[in-house]
Amino acid sequence: MSLDPSRRYFSPEIEQMSRADIDSQRDERLLGDLIPWAYKRSGLIRETWDAAGVKPDDITSMDDFHEKVPFIDKDAIRSYRDRHDDPYGGLLCLDPADPTMKGIFSAIFSTSGTTGDPTPAPFAGRGPSMLVREFWELGARPGDHFMHCLFTFRGPSIHDTIRGVGATPVFVDHQPSDIEQLLRFSREFRPTGWYTLSGPLITMIEETAARVGIDLQDAFSSYKGVVFAGEPIGPRARARVEDWGLELFIQTSLGDVGAATECREHDGCHMWEDTAYIESLDPEGTTPVGDGMRGELVSTTLIDKVAPLVRYRSDDLVRVTREPCACGRTHGRVHTLGRKGDEIVVDGASVLPGDVWGAVESIDETNGLFQLIRPSREVDTLCLRVGYATEGPGGLPALRARIEDAVEESVGIRPDVDLVERDVLLRQGPPHKIPRVTRA
Ligand SMILES: [Zn+2]
Repeated sequence: MSLDPSRRYFSPEIEQMSRADIDSQRDERLLGDLIPWAYKRSGLIRETWDAAGVKPDDITSMDDFHEKVPFIDKDAIRSYRDRHDDPYGGLLCLDPADPTMKGIFSAIFSTSGTTGDPTPAPFAGRGPSMLVREFWELGARPGDHFMHCLFTFRGPSIHDTIRGVGATPVFVDHQPSDIEQLLRFSREFRPTGWYTLSGPLITMIEETAARVGIDLQDAFSSYKGVVFAGEPIGPRARARVEDWGLELFIQTSLGDVGAATECREHDGCHMWEDTAYIESLDPEGTTPVGDGMRGELVSTTLIDKVAPLVRYRSDDLVRVTREPCACGRTHGRVHTLGRKGDEIVVDGASVLPGDVWGAVESIDETNGLFQLIRPSREVDTLCLRVGYATEGPGGLPALRARIEDAVEESVGIRPDVDLVERDVLLRQGPPHKIPRVTRA
């Protein structure tokens, strides 16, 4: 395949499909193919549909789909797993021992798993993922080097995706011990793309650069874009990275059926509607919310024949819009706001981690590291555990007061702040993030 480096999109015939074509392709894939397949082969889907009294033949239109198809969620998958002693939770549609499956079913991923049991993610096939569209968008081109710096999301897919744009991956670990290597390789190989950057990695880079005396603007001058993933980024961390001359492309999970990533317009993450059907529903009910309104993301794959999710309630609170984007791609966009299960209601007021993020981060000593303590959804007091690297002027009592003031000013609620050393907090997570909400 020869790729013209000057082309604007990697797959223009897909990225600029008309809305009518997106919809008719969805109907064909979902109604004609995916639903009968999943019902026949997925134990969880069949059990769920049988309990609801629904058969694939009952679903002949999207109206039928919206009206009749029952939901599944993470609890249903875990429950099936435990009742049937099935590590795939009843989702696997292929028999790994079947020789005809060779080359189709190739690996088990795990997701980053900060919210409880990590979910196994069976991986189908080889070759580049849809991320090839994003790597092209951020500026990687044939012949380039591409920094591959991944955390817990393991597997061959990203390597194949980097190869898919014709670039060569440069591997480093997402760990403090590898930061010097990352800086050295950045200067020597002059990569143009980077997947991925995370909050803790930003801190590691800053500290390593200060220790070894490296000018980060110079070290990073070859990059055209870097994907930031794993958790939301606060304004302060963003400003720091932009000071290094890096253009950030935020990536978010798309209800476990894929990922969504910003385009150069940086106004929401594009969801590829040739791969998934995304609904945004009332978090406490089943009615759709309007375009751009806060709702719960409900995902259905259109292409995953290995472990298909159908009407999966993701627990993610999002804003979804299908308004055209200035970049010229026609697929919808999603803004992730937080997790339904992370919401804390303090005296009637809803608080998500994203609501206090900027306030905590505005206090230098914290590096933006904090957790909300959530013993139950409704609480009397907003309790925060905040990490600190240094105590700052006036010692810990003064630091605590400054954080409490900043949060109160931002969300209108005075929190109770418990200060802990930063490294103690960092040990609670995988290398790229910590749980932002905890029961105790
Ligand atoms: Zn766009």
